[in-house]
Amino acid sequence: MIPAIRGTHDILPGDVQKWQHVERVARDLCERYGYVELRTPVIEREELFAKGTGETTDIVQKEMYAFTDKGGERVTLRPEATPSLVRAYVEHGLDQLMPATKLFMMGPMFRYERPQKGRYRQFHQLDVEVFNMGDPAVDAEVIDLAWSLVAALEIADAELVINSVGCAACRPTFQKALLAALGDDLPKLCQDCQRRAKTNPLRIYDCKVEADQPIIDRLPHSVDYLCEACATHFAAVQRQLTDWHIPWRISHRLVRGLDYYTRTTFEILGHALGAQNALLGGGRYDGLVKDLGGPDRTGIGFAAGLERLVLALPETAKIAATPRAFVAAIGEDGRAEALRLLRELRQAGLPAQMEFEARGVRAQLKRADRLAARVTLIVGGDELARGEVTLRDMQTGDQRAVPRAEAIDAARALLARDGAHP
Ligand SMILES: [Zn+2]
Ligand SMILES: [Zn+2]
Repeated sequence: MIPAIRGTHDILPGDVQKWQHVERVARDLCERYGYVELRTPVIEREELFAKGTGETTDIVQKEMYAFTDKGGERVTLRPEATPSLVRAYVEHGLDQLMPATKLFMMGPMFRYERPQKGRYRQFHQLDVEVFNMGDPAVDAEVIDLAWSLVAALEIADAELVINSVGCAACRPTFQKALLAALGDDLPKLCQDCQRRAKTNPLRIYDCKVEADQPIIDRLPHSVDYLCEACATHFAAVQRQLTDWHIPWRISHRLVRGLDYYTRTTFEILGHALGAQNALLGGGRYDGLVKDLGGPDRTGIGFAAGLERLVLALPETAKIAATPRAFVAAIGEDGRAEALRLLRELRQAGLPAQMEFEARGVRAQLKRADRLAARVTLIVGGDELARGEVTLRDMQTGDQRAVPRAEAIDAARALLARDGAHP
């Protein structure tokens, strides 16, 4: 047996219904909010993420699946979606084709991290991005979409946290204040923090090292150093969320680990793995499109971890199984007619199955039960001679004979009774 690669996982039948449920809810919501799907390749040039995600981030320094391909080019499996979507936006001139661009994408991402429960080297994300819309109402809309997704999935105890990390005009002042407040404490912080102090001091807030926390708790807050434009923007975002009755609180530590964030950042926290952690997170990145060689266009978005959303689904999540029909045959004559009916059901758009290895009717009905069939059509015997089939309601056990010509409509009526299909 050749096992799967460490840090990857198969999504097996039984679990896949949960995935399909999350994907379906996400897709429906994105479309309802006016977002269109864009799909990028999973493999990109390494420099896209060095430039986009940030040369000094852990992702780029330690976690990328980067290699030299047979043509001698440095490439990588994508560790996140945003730089890919920005690249596609710039490369195809989408700012001209669709002036207010609202995109979403779902797919696998790759990071070479230590595998833990719920954390994989190939993991999956829903990614949402908006370009060329700087209005604070857009920040609120993106946050609303994220909040509505978690609500539609009936994930309990979710909590929305927001912050503003300022812009190119006001962030240097805050960084200076941060370093000044650290002062003599800086050498007491962990190695990562020492490095962050040089490359991007805001990321000191990301530190999880216990010993560093009392020092970090005393540091100044970015919201107290916002320029007037950033402060006005952030106030408008908060007003809009309140007006939409979306509950939030400000977290001063929410700086997000990537270099490109400006102004609004946000996360939705859940309890998917016992401890509280982020189900999704994002923010505004107004300089990134230009940094990646595009026009000067604003950007904002979020990424949601599909593994985490699936884990956070409530036990009681209403994941509707598709009601299906089963065809059972009595004898050889019955079997030929049953096979004909099976295909007619499918051609009529109804999910239908049959047991091909000829067995007794009882064994076939057992099989129908195991498949959770809603209705079984029994073909053969006297009924077949009379031009009828037997329709068995698998929930009540009621049976009745219907003319062969009406069998499909009768099955459809039973399948439709419980809602969804078809
Ligand atoms: Zn500012
Ligand atoms: Zn630290």
